[in-house]
Amino acid sequence: MLPLPASLAGRIQVDGVRNSAGTIETMSGGATEQSVHADWTWVDGPAGGRLERGIAVAIGSDGRIGSVGPAARPSTLRLGGKALLPGFVSAHSHAFQRGLRGRTERFERGVGGFFPWREAMYGLVAELTPERCHELSLRTFTEMRDAGITAVGEFHYVRHAGPGDGGSATDKGLRYAFDESVLAAARDAGIRLTLLHACYMVGGMATDECPPLTGGQLRFRTADEGEYWDRFERLAGLCRGPNQSVGVTAHSLRAVPIDIIARLHAESVRRGVVFHIHLEEVRQEIIDALRVYRRRPAQLLLERLRIDRRFTAVHCTHTEPEDLRALAAAGATICLCPLTEGNLGDGICDVPAFREAGGRLAFGSDLNSRLAPLEELRWLEYVQRIRHERRGCVLDADGDAGKELLRIGTAGGAESIGLDSGAIAPGRWADFAVVDLQHPTMEGWTPETFAAHLVFGAGDNVLCGSCVGGHWRLRR
Ligand SMILES: [Zn+2]
Repeated sequence: MLPLPASLAGRIQVDGVRNSAGTIETMSGGATEQSVHADWTWVDGPAGGRLERGIAVAIGSDGRIGSVGPAARPSTLRLGGKALLPGFVSAHSHAFQRGLRGRTERFERGVGGFFPWREAMYGLVAELTPERCHELSLRTFTEMRDAGITAVGEFHYVRHAGPGDGGSATDKGLRYAFDESVLAAARDAGIRLTLLHACYMVGGMATDECPPLTGGQLRFRTADEGEYWDRFERLAGLCRGPNQSVGVTAHSLRAVPIDIIARLHAESVRRGVVFHIHLEEVRQEIIDALRVYRRRPAQLLLERLRIDRRFTAVHCTHTEPEDLRALAAAGATICLCPLTEGNLGDGICDVPAFREAGGRLAFGSDLNSRLAPLEELRWLEYVQRIRHERRGCVLDADGDAGKELLRIGTAGGAESIGLDSGAIAPGRWADFAVVDLQHPTMEGWTPETFAAHLVFGAGDNVLCGSCVGGHWRLRR
């Protein structure tokens, strides 16, 4: 176990060691069976999730939930004054971008945008070493755990510690050097991880030959499809224990030609694994696709891919309503990253058009400039209210915004990255977030208003613990 980031030192200890102040305690599970009894537990029912009292959750030695039922016998962990929720899932993260936090907020020419920000990101990429990549990833994943995020879809495209062009002897040992850094950081932080293995081949869209990768982009490079799938197999072997798995990803239409995206997706369907892609985050991508393919990017994917429920499009900021409806009908998830889209000034996805067609949502912390799942969910709804000048854009069948946002932040994310988590039910992973019901901002909650009170009224400091597969981090 590596040292925790300075901001956490003295606050939290890991795996059963009490800190010097005695204010924080965590328990280690996983090797033995546990029974957890919180004052309130969020359980699934026919009408969606609800809080119930007097519930014990049994966790097996395999890290999965064995049973959920009345608390009859003494528990191994009693969470008084707390509510137990399914853990939050960030379905889209680039952990290393934590290194840009606070560093891209000066605008010397008076204005910024996505592409100047991308130059700053490439600058960070050029400085990465395996050690630095591990350090930044560990910081991100540890912050996630402390924010109640128990699983992450790490959209992993920075792969090589050197130029990564595969053509020089200096590449030896540098190619894919960052893969193990990220996997090790996730293990060290104790977070569940789907490593979204990204294909990145070219430097832009073109009608004939696509521009080659240059500069820092060479660190992203996948030479060809054979190399992509060889690496996929190798990553599957590197994933240790039940907490790590691999998904298929084409970075974007800017980085992979459509014929290759179509073949990668078909193979992901054949293998039964999730497929993610950045889609229509910036208007330039649509302009380029119309010039090169005579189709909008979403139109092109809908034509060329047999999209199903394992498909997640990230952002869809500028996607046309008819394409949003078609994505919804195909079963796709859209992963929105409200704090990132706000930070980068991307724009706002037309969520009502997607939802009215039954579309499914997840959230992602993306550039990890802030790790605050409640804030992500609140702003997911608020930007829609601002854009559409109405209240209540993301609702469940009963018209409840709080419950639906909570479901999107847990089960929605778990489904997007292919995990058996996101609900407190037998057979699911024992991944939980713990809410401090005695926090002043929770004053006045009721079982009926809990979800909305939490999402719209509480800061993320009410999340006082998390559990992944039976391993707890609790702030007392
Ligand atoms: Zn992204």
